[in-house]
Amino acid sequence: MISSRIIHIWKIIKILGALSELCELLLVELRVSNDINIISEIKPLIEKLIGMAQHSGLYYFLIEAYILHGKLALIMFDIKSSRRYLTQARRMAERHGYIGLANEIAGLHRAMMERLDIWEQLEKIDAPISERMELARLDDHLKGKFRMRMMKMERITEGEVTVYKGSQTCLVCKGSAEGFNIYICPTCNSFYCKVCTQAVIDLENQCWSCNSPIDASKPVKPYKPVKEVGDTKESKQPKKY
Ligand SMILES: [Zn+2]
Ligand SMILES: [Zn+2]
Repeated sequence: MISSRIIHIWKIIKILGALSELCELLLVELRVSNDINIISEIKPLIEKLIGMAQHSGLYYFLIEAYILHGKLALIMFDIKSSRRYLTQARRMAERHGYIGLANEIAGLHRAMMERLDIWEQLEKIDAPISERMELARLDDHLKGKFRMRMMKMERITEGEVTVYKGSQTCLVCKGSAEGFNIYICPTCNSFYCKVCTQAVIDLENQCWSCNSPIDASKPVKPYKPVKEVGDTKESKQPKKY
């Protein structure tokens, strides 16, 4: 017998499908119009998607939404945010057993890091959005593909739907952060599960909430080589997604 909870979940999925369709339409408009302001219309839609998916424990949808956030941050040249979103998406995928998706996200992240020079160049010449979208592989989210990706989860069982409640939720993967396997930031009290703590140390060693170092024995690491930080970063205002 189908439980009322599953019926409720299917209703949510329908709404998520409609939201992702709307995101796609705006992405098409973004590419055609070259108007960066459209991103500020897409962002609240993604946030809505995230809120609903998280509340219902629909992690596959949540992961896709974070990937989209990561790619949009990238086309705004906000590399730091993009790396964080992709790290979150990868950790969620790992935590919930979507291994193929986790590998795909790791590949995206790697490709971005290998092309930092190109991204810097594109920023300098203020390249057209369509060009940036292509490089960020945003085409995966156009022409019905985003919706298709979102809808890939054909069958949902009760077991797949886990909702983590309470304040002890990992800041990165949104999963439960309980027991001994957690890190609590001594400065801001943010929770990180054990695996995400390591992922954040590897990424930048910086608390996402208060910026203090997570492993105090190591320095905070920006994504750019240290020598560049002194001369250019101060003068140039970093882009914010
Ligand atoms: Zn975590
Ligand atoms: Zn903190």
